[in-house]
Amino acid sequence: MAKRKVIITCAVTGAIHTPSMSPALPVTAEQIADAAIGAAEAGAAIVHLHARNPVDGRPDQTPEGFSPFLQVIKQRSDCVVNITTGGAPTMTIEERVRPAATHKPEVASLNMGSMNFGLFGMLNRFKDFKHQWEKDYLSDKGIIFRNSFADIEYILTTCAENGTRFEFECYDTSHLYNLKYFYDQGIVKGPLFVQTVFGLQGGIGAHPEDVLHMKRTADRLFGDNYRWSVLGAGRNQLPIAAMSAAMGGNIRVGLEDSLWAGPGKFAESNAQQVTLARQIIEGLGLEVATPDEAREILELKGADKVGF
Ligand SMILES: [Zn+2]
Repeated sequence: MAKRKVIITCAVTGAIHTPSMSPALPVTAEQIADAAIGAAEAGAAIVHLHARNPVDGRPDQTPEGFSPFLQVIKQRSDCVVNITTGGAPTMTIEERVRPAATHKPEVASLNMGSMNFGLFGMLNRFKDFKHQWEKDYLSDKGIIFRNSFADIEYILTTCAENGTRFEFECYDTSHLYNLKYFYDQGIVKGPLFVQTVFGLQGGIGAHPEDVLHMKRTADRLFGDNYRWSVLGAGRNQLPIAAMSAAMGGNIRVGLEDSLWAGPGKFAESNAQQVTLARQIIEGLGLEVATPDEAREILELKGADKVGF
């Protein structure tokens, strides 16, 4: 029997962690490109990308901020590029969609519901910050990550002509039902790439029961017309990855989601986390999907049809 192929997505920098937390967190375009290419070489079929201000590491959602690393990644790797439309919870929806609308990637992320977004827990672990913005951003207990039905529809319609497919990020059960609404309206079509997210303060927890509940709900709502992936925040990253791989799902790792490579051990690179994910997959007797296999599984348009 052929071995099942498991897609590894690597989210290399994101907008949750800040530069003072880890020297491994990519900040400049060169660092982001190198991290993405390194992750792809280690086995990631998809790289999920955000941009940052090269001087202070602040999240940057200008299309121009993405251009330098998108071009380098395209030249040096055949991995699938996934551009964020989440940006950071402090940005407007119009700002958030611009990089994906401009660069027309094969995949873009799409957050499926509004939620509290608590990053303040990290202030217990990290005390010294090089930039004032980091402290202000992390200590804000008033953040609501707004993803209303209108916002989601705005992103879907803005990107509708581009052939971009979405990584539907679901941080709670209601987000699956929100996705079901758009699915029933025919606004999104299968196979849906559903990224269930666990352990972010404000979303569902990271208990195995939470993982099972999200999978059961997605199974009931979408049947076999979805591809399941998981993302566990922080120390939950690898245990949840292992659960998903064992239950037929795919895996997302990367320094956007966790700075760790084991208890008390900082990850040295994104590639290191991809290698740990690969070991789980291969240890279970499964196989890591190549970029082209991921394109087939997710029915993507192909690397020659992007806008960069
Ligand atoms: Zn992201």
